[in-house]
Amino acid sequence: MKLIIHGGFFSESATNKEVKQAKQEAMRDIVQLGHQYLQTHSALETVVYTVRLLEDNELFNAGTGSQIQSDGKIRMSAALMDGKSLAFSGVINLEGVQNPIDVAEKLLHLPDRVLSGQGAQDFAYKQGYPYYNPETPQRRSEYEQKLADALRSGTGTVGCVALDADGNIAAATSTGGKGFEIPCRVSDSATVAGNYADSFAGISCTGVGEDIVSGAVAAKIVTRVGDGMSLEAATAKTLAELKPFDGFAGVIGISAKGEVYHLDTHLYMVWAAYDEGVKVFD
Ligand code: ASP
Repeated sequence: MKLIIHGGFFSESATNKEVKQAKQEAMRDIVQLGHQYLQTHSALETVVYTVRLLEDNELFNAGTGSQIQSDGKIRMSAALMDGKSLAFSGVINLEGVQNPIDVAEKLLHLPDRVLSGQGAQDFAYKQGYPYYNPETPQRRSEYEQKLADALRSGTGTVGCVALDADGNIAAATSTGGKGFEIPCRVSDSATVAGNYADSFAGISCTGVGEDIVSGAVAAKIVTRVGDGMSLEAATAKTLAELKPFDGFAGVIGISAKGEVYHLDTHLYMVWAAYDEGVKVFD
């Protein structure tokens, strides 16, 4: 049983030791809780549980503490993929809920599995999720600052890949987006470029969504592993293909053989793994 999680990129706060330490501690705690949960639950149940914990931690740009789009609204995206059934579900630009990953989970067994905007919100409320405002004072002040400076900050999505006792793999990813984007811009996170799993491997991405989509990153790595490459080689080849356009991406993955791997094109991707003990980025 293996588990790997990420908390997106770190660029803005890379020099801030306190934030780095807080993120490391959160990653360490959450990967342990997730791994504990995996002892008695499937990979699919575990990735939802673990991403929910990450969404609820306001240090990360997903769920509570999501970044604000340029019109002052928070629109979140999340996706879930079951490597066993190959079902993929997601929500895009969802407003006013606490845990977008829970809404994605509700969609997994329905005929319509990816919803956006108002339709996603109506669906969530029909499922009984109450209105929730995911904004934090920290994100509001960053937004005000960006309005004043017209600056763009770093990223900080969350994701999880798990391999369970039955050998099944699942992947989940959740994001508040790039921050300060054109309203309703679509993130990679709720696409097969940002989140993909089958019986050979599972991948969750973070970084600049446009670059991740251009590189078809998650689906390409998983396909390459299925075609016989190691997870490490498949990830390295796929991220190398982003170089011609200086693509910005980070990846976590697990293969059915038990390989647990992370790689990024730029420094300070925040990640942690439970693979014969806890390992955390440093
Ligand atoms: N990939 C996300 C997006 O482009 C951002 C992130 O990873 O932090 O929406």
